Amino acid sequence: MSTQYEMVIGLETHIELRTETKAFCSCAVTFGAEPNTHCCPVCTGMPGAIPVLNERAVEYAIKAGLLLHCRVSLWSRMDRKNYYYPDLPKAYQISQYDHPICTDGWLDIPSGEGMKRIRIERLHLEEDAGKLTHTEHGTLLDCNRCGVPLIEIVTKPDFRSADEVTAYLQELRERIRFAGLSDCKMNEGSLRCDVNLSLRPAGSDRLGERAELKNLNSFQFAARAIAFEAGRQAAVLDAGGTLFAETRGFDERTGETFSMRPKETQEDYRFFPEPDLPPIVLTEETVARWESELPEPPASRRARYREAFGLNRETAEALTVSREAADAFEEAAGLTRYPRQLATLLASDPARLSQGAIPVSAAHLAALADLAGEKTIGSGTARELLSLLWREDQDPREAVVRLGLGKLSDPAALRALAREVIAGNPRMAEEYRAGKTAVLQALIGQMMRRTQGRADPGLSREALLSLLSI
Ligand code: ADP
Ligand code: MG
Ligand code: ZN
Repeated sequence: MSTQYEMVIGLETHIELRTETKAFCSCAVTFGAEPNTHCCPVCTGMPGAIPVLNERAVEYAIKAGLLLHCRVSLWSRMDRKNYYYPDLPKAYQISQYDHPICTDGWLDIPSGEGMKRIRIERLHLEEDAGKLTHTEHGTLLDCNRCGVPLIEIVTKPDFRSADEVTAYLQELRERIRFAGLSDCKMNEGSLRCDVNLSLRPAGSDRLGERAELKNLNSFQFAARAIAFEAGRQAAVLDAGGTLFAETRGFDERTGETFSMRPKETQEDYRFFPEPDLPPIVLTEETVARWESELPEPPASRRARYREAFGLNRETAEALTVSREAADAFEEAAGLTRYPRQLATLLASDPARLSQGAIPVSAAHLAALADLAGEKTIGSGTARELLSLLWREDQDPREAVVRLGLGKLSDPAALRALAREVIAGNPRMAEEYRAGKTAVLQALIGQMMRRTQGRADPGLSREALLSLLSI
């Protein structure tokens, strides 16, 4: 793309809320279940079925809004957005139109040098549609997803590059996930984003005609679609052509965007207030309570851990992979004399840390860090014990005794072992006595090998020296 144009992007992001049940019925929210096993007359749009709003969905939507510094509406309502598509059995989506539940937020993202603020126009609550699967024999419909609560987050057209878009999505995903509101998996569709992109002459403050890009289901695809689309629009403008507002798809195989339809307008949807649901009325107290339940965001926790325990970035990141991991670390850190050892130990297996609830009690994690910190066990043994505790939580001090994992520091036992090692390596002993003292290290190594690393290195050295100098 030539430099005479500036890229302007606004994002609409849909996130499925991880409530137990759907937005307007008591069907379970699931992923990957047998198709059409979690649906009922309400979510499949049978005549006469009446929706009832799930309070949890409201709570999660507002918590998401608070994480994005939004203003919360104490009065909002649901509207019908009317359109027909095979994945929408009711032929309308219950959404919010002119009274969204949250407005006017922002999110700061790293960009070029320093932070950049992305303004958020609105966040509203709506329901998901079903899932279509196209096969060679026809198209299949799974209604399990119909009626799953969604939030749609709409930004101002504040992005100027694909990198900024990626940074925003990463920050958004981390915050929402950390608070347990959604798992935000792009590949499973629980986070989906549409990119609105236009070009304008550099320096202009008017907006150009935009294309809305759909079906971008990874960060990488989003970045590739943006690059392609910006190039395409620039070519049209350079050739003296005009652009019109349209909805475009992205083909993962070719890396190209293609026209799907001209952009629909708000009038096309015939929005009107949902007659089957009362308005959503909240009190300041309820919102304050929900706000107080939100966890401290991961970025600020990372900064705190690095400062307090002198951790590097990777370790701090591993510890804040989930709220469960961070909470477990903090609780155990308060109980051990060696929080830094605890941090490195926990972060040594980031994949395990990221799998939800931490199955080891804080007291046991702390005891393990103490054992490692005071050098009763070596770092390899500490990691093995952690795996053991993960499989079956237990007191690591008892496990050390039961499994004989402690460091060998009994002088008599080490002396006996040193004698064996010397007897088994007469050449080395001779060399040492002839003045080649470097072989001592190899002999210590032998002692370690015979004890699977448990022999205390300092004491082993002493035992060898006392025998060799005779
Ligand atoms: P819809 O796409 O549903 O019609 P909006 O008009 O609110 O809804 O726009 C949706 C998104 O498109 C917003 O993120 C907005 O910032 C962005 N947007 C609107 N106009 C432009 C434009 N000319 N160029 C780039 N982004 C735009
Ligand atoms: Mg749109
Ligand atoms: Zn249902």
